[in-house]
Amino acid sequence: MIITLRPHTNTKDKEELKARLLSLGVVIHESTGENYTILGLVGDTTGIDARSFEALPYVDHVTRIGAPYKLVNRLFHPQDTIVDVAGVKVGASEPMVIMAGPCAVEDREQLEEIAQGVKQAGARILRGGAYKPRTSPYSFQGLGEEALDLLVQAKQITGLPVVSELMDENQLELFEEKVDLIQIGARNMQNYALLKALGQTKKPVLLKRGFANTIEEWLMAAEYLASYGNPNIILCERGIRTFESATRNTLDLAVIPIIKKRSHLPIIIDPSHATGDWELVESAALAATAAGADGLIIEVHNHPEKAKSDGAQSLKIDNFTLLMEKCKAIAPVVGRRL
Ligand code: PEP
Ligand code: MN
Repeated sequence: MIITLRPHTNTKDKEELKARLLSLGVVIHESTGENYTILGLVGDTTGIDARSFEALPYVDHVTRIGAPYKLVNRLFHPQDTIVDVAGVKVGASEPMVIMAGPCAVEDREQLEEIAQGVKQAGARILRGGAYKPRTSPYSFQGLGEEALDLLVQAKQITGLPVVSELMDENQLELFEEKVDLIQIGARNMQNYALLKALGQTKKPVLLKRGFANTIEEWLMAAEYLASYGNPNIILCERGIRTFESATRNTLDLAVIPIIKKRSHLPIIIDPSHATGDWELVESAALAATAAGADGLIIEVHNHPEKAKSDGAQSLKIDNFTLLMEKCKAIAPVVGRRL
């Protein structure tokens, strides 16, 4: 962090500021120019509110050099994190992990048919919403606990671990018992109470990027989980809001290399919510594979035309199977397997 003092800052003010900075545990490198004096701070500045120093009348501006996140920063943890989801390993040079299933669990037949289908195609984790964050209160809200029980049954039949979205801290115990990977959806990425609660468990978390959040805000949300004690985090890009209306969201694929550079956490892509259109899912999924994603999460339905949520972006089982074949062909090009 660099603090630039205004010209003619008096020595008393400067020394007082330096004493305060030293008490925060940093080392100060001072450099005095013709007009400005610069204080370069070295050490752990993650806990320091940089902008607050700009409230001092003699501080011209403050520049942060390092990132405000520490535990999820690759700088302090160079080796890739591998997250173990009930035996399925995600990250580093592990094979890509494909998670697939319906947007929402609707009934036993629906879930079992989809679970068997995606398993046969090569998916290794089953997705299924139990509590759905719907824009309209009149839309299907999910089967709740009944859906979690159906997921547990589908897991018993197929052996696939399950991922489902948690929206309420009060349901955490239920999710800890029944779900292998707890999803925090885009709408809750900055729900800090939820993040703190999840941070106190060791359950793997699938942290989706909020649709209006920067990469730094996303990594700071991950930092919440890590700093409260849960390092088992998988990041998921699911598209962000832009001016473009031809797709539901805009898929930001550049996040894959950016996250890999800035963090050691695995990152997967959700081409379903990113595009909102089943016809676009394949291209987005293949592009994500080529860009080095650690996995994909894809919505699949046995009867998309009858789906209670997100039917328009859901792949039929046969199209999902074709997509998996193409992913298997592309992954080795970038040194990966499926
Ligand atoms: C979902 O995965 O079904 C979902 C609602 O995702 P997102 O939070 O990305 O919208
Ligand atoms: Mn959905």
